[in-house]
Amino acid sequence: MDMMKEPEAGWAIEGRDPRIAVIGAGMSGICAVIKLRKAGYRDITVYEKADKVGGTWRENTYPGLSCDVPSHWYSFSFEPNPNWSHRFSYGAEIQAYMEHVAEKYDVNRIVQFNNPVEELTYEGPHWRLKPKQGDEEIYDIVIAATGILHHPSIPDIPGLDCFEGNRFHSAQWDHSVDLTGKRVGIIGTGSTASQIIGAIAEKVGHLSVFQRTPQWMTPLAQKEYSKPFQALMRVFPFISRALYYYYYKTMERTFCEATVGNKKMQEAVSEACQKNLDENVPDPELRKKLTPDYQAACKRLILCSDFYPAMCRDNVDLVTEKIERIEPTGVQDKEGTLHELDILVLATGFKVGDFILPTKVFGENKVELKDFWDDAPRAHRAMSVPGFPNFWMLEGPTGPVGNLSLILITETQMDYLVQCLDEMKHQKLVAMAPKKEAYEGYNDAMSRAIGNTVWVTGGCDSWYIDKTGTPNLYPWAPRQFRQEMKRPDFSEYRLIKDIPQQARAEAAE
Ligand code: NAP
Repeated sequence: MDMMKEPEAGWAIEGRDPRIAVIGAGMSGICAVIKLRKAGYRDITVYEKADKVGGTWRENTYPGLSCDVPSHWYSFSFEPNPNWSHRFSYGAEIQAYMEHVAEKYDVNRIVQFNNPVEELTYEGPHWRLKPKQGDEEIYDIVIAATGILHHPSIPDIPGLDCFEGNRFHSAQWDHSVDLTGKRVGIIGTGSTASQIIGAIAEKVGHLSVFQRTPQWMTPLAQKEYSKPFQALMRVFPFISRALYYYYYKTMERTFCEATVGNKKMQEAVSEACQKNLDENVPDPELRKKLTPDYQAACKRLILCSDFYPAMCRDNVDLVTEKIERIEPTGVQDKEGTLHELDILVLATGFKVGDFILPTKVFGENKVELKDFWDDAPRAHRAMSVPGFPNFWMLEGPTGPVGNLSLILITETQMDYLVQCLDEMKHQKLVAMAPKKEAYEGYNDAMSRAIGNTVWVTGGCDSWYIDKTGTPNLYPWAPRQFRQEMKRPDFSEYRLIKDIPQQARAEAAE
């Protein structure tokens, strides 16, 4: 009898702080820690695979890297930055901001750097977490803040490994390689490639741009903020706040509306793109090659002013013939032309369907998340999965909302999650997970609504589209997202008041 081990009742019943694991110390991991602490949850450990915070802004350092969301909006609402140097920030400045926020809010202290999480197993009502280094740990709550655009996609092109020059993916930029005067090739013409092309065209000897599909783009209204303006922002912080809401509302009323079925706005975006192309590419043949055959904003709309001027340069060639194979000395196209290169850049995007995977995640009854998703990840309100209690995701499946600032989305999700924890405390719950029918109902409604969005009606293929042929995005307008996320509807969740009998039996053995 003495040997019998009583299972823990759960943090809310025991009246203690929940032990919370946050996976990832990028923008959303930092946000999670700050919001949790503000709500009184302080027993937090963050696991980060790299040696510093910053996520995508740490990983991506390619030339020309900037954010096409205005700086004063691409900021935490609780940490405005009067010192942004430009209307659209460059990557290094955003990384510095992330590091500043992590430092100021004392996040680094609780981060285990260089320690990716290998496995998570639900042992009702706890999670057993196996990190790469150190002992396994037990947590009450797990928050995956692992990002979306995170695992580089290396194209499956024959001969890629035999290229004898320098080759790297845009998210793994090799700064030891000097581009000056070199023959450079870049595969891809997405948001990343267009920024790189604009930034390097002048410097390289020759640039071959391998385009599979043309892209629509509008100019980026970049602007440098003057020192007096920054000083004014420091003295009157409300200006930053005003700019935050100005950009938020402008984006919501225009671009976001265009994506979710507002025909008038869609036409306005299309016209702006066509005008941009017409005005900046005078050569009709080149213009034709750069003209997409689908609707603007179907693929993620690019905001870039440097790309078209770069493509018009004498030292830049647009290659639209399909790539046949990579040779040791360059790229051979289907027409048999070998484009000789010293450097090959793969701006070929990311494997977007992975989310927290490849971490192995086992939920109730040892069901593995990978199998549950079967290459088509879904979640309830983009945050949780039935059968995986006390497991939450930030920027999870269908997380992006019509090109809203991801920081705003993460903050909204964290405010929602904190209310769920408060409810667990209030009701003395040991666990909560979405009901299967709520999850299915939500995702069925999404699948129906997505048919009205430009991501489907626009007639293109994009990284938004998953294995089921459906864009993995929120299909409604941002105001609906705000409304839905304001307060959780707890009837959508299994509110678990006792640990399963099986766990009791196991603990008693
Ligand atoms: P992406 O949009 O997925 O673009 C990948 C490019 O590579 C496309 O042009 C694609 O052609 C091409 N490609 C892929 N595989 C290929 C192959 N086997 N052969 C030939 N071409 C191939 O990736 P990304 O440009 O890295 O951008 C991803 C996302 O990151 C963006 O949509 C955006 O959300 C985000 N981003 C944002 C900013 C910003 O300013 N906020 C900047 C950079 C990135 P197809 O079009 O034919 O597939």
